[in-house]
Amino acid sequence: MTDPKPIIVALDFAAKVPALALVDQLDPARCRLKVGKELFTRLGPPVVRTLQRRGFEVFLDLKFHDIPNTVAAACAAAADLGVWMLNLHCTGGAAMIAAARERLDQMGAAGRAVPRLIGVTVLTSLDADDLAAVGCPGDPRERVLRLAELGRRAGLEGVVCSPQEAALVRRALGPGFLLVAPGVRPVWAAAGDQKRVMTPAQAVAAGADYLVIGRPITGAPDPAAALAAIEQELTVVPA
Ligand code: C5P
Repeated sequence: MTDPKPIIVALDFAAKVPALALVDQLDPARCRLKVGKELFTRLGPPVVRTLQRRGFEVFLDLKFHDIPNTVAAACAAAADLGVWMLNLHCTGGAAMIAAARERLDQMGAAGRAVPRLIGVTVLTSLDADDLAAVGCPGDPRERVLRLAELGRRAGLEGVVCSPQEAALVRRALGPGFLLVAPGVRPVWAAAGDQKRVMTPAQAVAAGADYLVIGRPITGAPDPAAALAAIEQELTVVPA
């Protein structure tokens, strides 16, 4: 972990008013925000611009998965929106990932700021039986590694992975490949529906570069204090 701002707050809200009420309690110097399918589908690009105007960098978590030309165009649209990070499904294949990489690199070569491009390997909601049922038998961890390696070769800067997978992926892919970990719970927070959680410090020790944290911050009585407590756990000195 080298970024002094490793916490990405998951903005899992269905409407603008509660989302912005939460955001108003956070400092853009201390965290980034993740906008996912629900908020984006309800409110669209204007919500991203609103967050950016408030000084926040945005991880657009839309997990693109389509033919190469379509995904490359969607990545260009996300770059036009000025997001800091975006993701796609590694199972879209090397050509899809490479097309996205190429389009972003072209924008970068033209002097444009481009988002960090990361991949999703295996959704943590799927176990070995679920994968076998969709025609992908075998050890899910091997699949995670295969897809992470394929993604890196095709131009990804990193992957989303559970903290439990972080050590495995870090060992296999070495330093410099970004690991973005959800499923993180400070010791003082409820696990909620997350089953295999790690604390922020454990996740970072396992190799995570960024921690995606939602309800322990968004559902806290004092979100800024919750963020500060997590920073303290990580011994990140606030900017
Ligand atoms: O509230 P909580 O901290 O559980 O939120 C975690 C965020 O990370 C949510 O936006 C969730 O969709 C996302 N996520 C996850 N597990 C994954 C991938 C993404 O919890 N494997």
